[in-house]
Amino acid sequence: MNADLEKLIRLHHVEADLKRVESDLAEVPRLRKEIEDRLARDRAHLDAAKAVLEASLKARKQNEAAVQDLEAKRSKYKGQLMEVKTNKEYTAVLHEIEGVERDIKAREDVILDEMEKAEALGQDVKREEADFKAVEADAKKENADLDARTATLGAEAQRLGKERDEVAASVPEESLALYRRVAKQRGSGVAEAQEGMCQACHVRMRVQIWVEVRKNEQLFQCESCSRVLFYEPPPPTVAVEP
Ligand SMILES: [Zn+2]
Repeated sequence: MNADLEKLIRLHHVEADLKRVESDLAEVPRLRKEIEDRLARDRAHLDAAKAVLEASLKARKQNEAAVQDLEAKRSKYKGQLMEVKTNKEYTAVLHEIEGVERDIKAREDVILDEMEKAEALGQDVKREEADFKAVEADAKKENADLDARTATLGAEAQRLGKERDEVAASVPEESLALYRRVAKQRGSGVAEAQEGMCQACHVRMRVQIWVEVRKNEQLFQCESCSRVLFYEPPPPTVAVEP
């Protein structure tokens, strides 16, 4: 095989490998963000559950404070009952006491209601906490995996970059320039030819060219896509023992 052609094929493979590794590396930030987003969503669920529980406890406390105030008010009215002079005054104060007691009863109902709710809400918080812990542990593990993967890919990219530079430096200037020009335009500089056809653009070549391409002795460009063509002979068939 023509030495330049052989090097260009190798350069092509190394560059394709490098491109794959670099695109895998470029995926890492997106994967990290997915992990972060999942964690943030779960934390938001936990925070929401805690907020509902806190609101319930706050409502209970407010009502408990209000009941204390109302009880003080009731005592005051009861004291007034002893001091009233007329029946009319007596009835009026009694009426006030009844109002305060109705209010106390209503608030006590709310307190009981909130106490029952708080029990269920406490369970919700516990469940969300357990969920969050599990997701957090998963995220930690996934991030560690990503760290390891990033290190492996980074080392691989470095090795391939070095290999690419070495192979490219060994190709004569003119052939390299041709390869680079086509690669820039087409995304790849070489193409395999099979059965008289360029396997990159699928255009059939003239018979004389196909005969020459099969020899792999010179650099032939596909007349359609300009890629440098090479031929990979099929592996020798092994006779099957009868
Ligand atoms: Zn072609």
